[in-house]
Amino acid sequence: MNVADSQRVGSSLEHLGYTFTEKAEEADVIVLNTCVVRQSAEDKALGRLSSLLPLKRQNPNLVINLMGCLVGVRGAEKLRQRLPYVDVFSPPSDPGPLVSFLSQGEIRTLESDETTRRFAMMDDDLILPQHERGRLVSAHVPIVYGCSHACTFCIIPFRRGAERSRPVGDIVAEIRSLAAQGVREVTLLGQIVDRYGKDIPDGPNLAALLRVVHDAQGAEGIERIRFLTSHPKYFTEDLMDTIAELPKVMPHIEVPIQAGDDEVLLNMKRGYNQKEYRDLIEKIRNKISDCSIATDIIVGFPGETEQQFMETYRVLSDLKLDVAHLARYSSREGTVATRRMDDNVTDEEKMRRFRMLEELQEEIVAEINTKYLGQTVEVLFEEKVKNRWKGRTPTNKLVFVESDEDLKGQILPVNVIWTGPWSMQANLQKQPELISV
Ligand code: SF4
Repeated sequence: MNVADSQRVGSSLEHLGYTFTEKAEEADVIVLNTCVVRQSAEDKALGRLSSLLPLKRQNPNLVINLMGCLVGVRGAEKLRQRLPYVDVFSPPSDPGPLVSFLSQGEIRTLESDETTRRFAMMDDDLILPQHERGRLVSAHVPIVYGCSHACTFCIIPFRRGAERSRPVGDIVAEIRSLAAQGVREVTLLGQIVDRYGKDIPDGPNLAALLRVVHDAQGAEGIERIRFLTSHPKYFTEDLMDTIAELPKVMPHIEVPIQAGDDEVLLNMKRGYNQKEYRDLIEKIRNKISDCSIATDIIVGFPGETEQQFMETYRVLSDLKLDVAHLARYSSREGTVATRRMDDNVTDEEKMRRFRMLEELQEEIVAEINTKYLGQTVEVLFEEKVKNRWKGRTPTNKLVFVESDEDLKGQILPVNVIWTGPWSMQANLQKQPELISV
C-alpha cells in the first residue's frame, strides 16, 4: 500500500513540475512515507527522519514531508511539536497536504525561474526508484482504503482510518492509464480486499470488480490481475468461482490465518476458528486448480501458551501453504491487546517460535517447488538483476532466467531447471517476441 501511495505522490509532484532524484541531498522536497505496523518499523522511520535533519539545517528551504501511518488520520498536533523541522504532515494515501503546501507560492517560484525542482521519495529504508512511466511492468492499485475490522493487535485501523472503497470508475480509469503506460500486471489492494464494495450501497463486490477490470476496454494490455490481502471470513465461493473462470486473474491468494489456536484467534478478534480456515483452504483448492496460497502468522501473541503455539505449527504443517509471512507479536500503543492483555511471551520465546515456523515453512516450500522441476510455466519478466532476468509465475513464484535479450514486460514460457525454497531457475523455451512496453 505504501509503494502505491508513494507512486501517487510522485505522480502528483511530477504534475507540479518536479522531477525525481535518487539523492536526498539534491532534493528540494523529500517525502518520507512511513509504516508503523511493528515497533521496529516505527523506530526505523523515526531514525530515518532524524537523519534528514542535517540536510534541513544546510538548506532551510528544503521541504520535508512526513507521510503515512506515523502521521495517521487523526491529525498530527503532537508530532508537529516533536518534529518542528517537518514542514508537511500527510495521512496515509493522501498527497493533498503536500500538493497544497507546494502550490502556495512554490509553484510560482518554479515557473518564474528556470531551475529544475527535484523531489526524493523515501520509505523506511530506501529511496524508491523513479516513478518511471512506460517502464513499470507491475503496479499496485488501492481499491479499499483503511480497515474497520479492529483485530486486537493491529494499529492499522487507528492510522489508516475506517474502510472506504473507491468507486469502480476511478479504479478502471487508473488501470486504463497504467495499461497505456505499458503496465502488464495490476495488484488490487485493500487491508481486507475481499470486503471491497461493502461500504457502498448496492456497490459491486470484489468478484464483480474483477470482472469489470478483466474486460475493461482500453485496459487490454493488462494481462495479469492479482489482489491482496483477503480475510478468511469474507472470501466467498462466488469469488473463488470468478478467479477460476477469468484467465487474467492469477491463481494466487493471500489469506492470513494469524494463529492456529481457537482461543488465540478469539483473543485476536479475527472472526473465524481453525476449522473454518482449514475448510476455506480446502474449498479454494477444490475450486481453483493449481492455486498457490500465502498466509500471515503472528507468534507470541499475549498469553499464547506452548500448546497454543503448537496448534499453529500443526496447521501450517498440515496445510502446506506456499508462503507464510511470519511476525513476532509487537505491542502497539492504543490497541486492545496493548491496553488489556499482558505481553507475557518473552522475546527469546517469540524468536524460538518464529524460527520453528521458519524452518518448517522452508521445508514445505522446498517440497512444493520441486513439483515445478521440468515443468513449463509462463513467466512475466519484470527486471534484470545482475545478469539474470527476474519474473513471476501465475502462482507468484520467483523465477530467474539468463538471457541477453530484453525480456522486460514479456510473458514467456520457460522450462524450470532448478528449484529452491525461495526461487527457481529456468531456461527460455522460445525467443522473445518484440513487445513494446
Ligand atoms: S483485518 Fe485486522 S490485521 Fe488486517 S488491517 Fe484490519 S485490523 Fe489490521
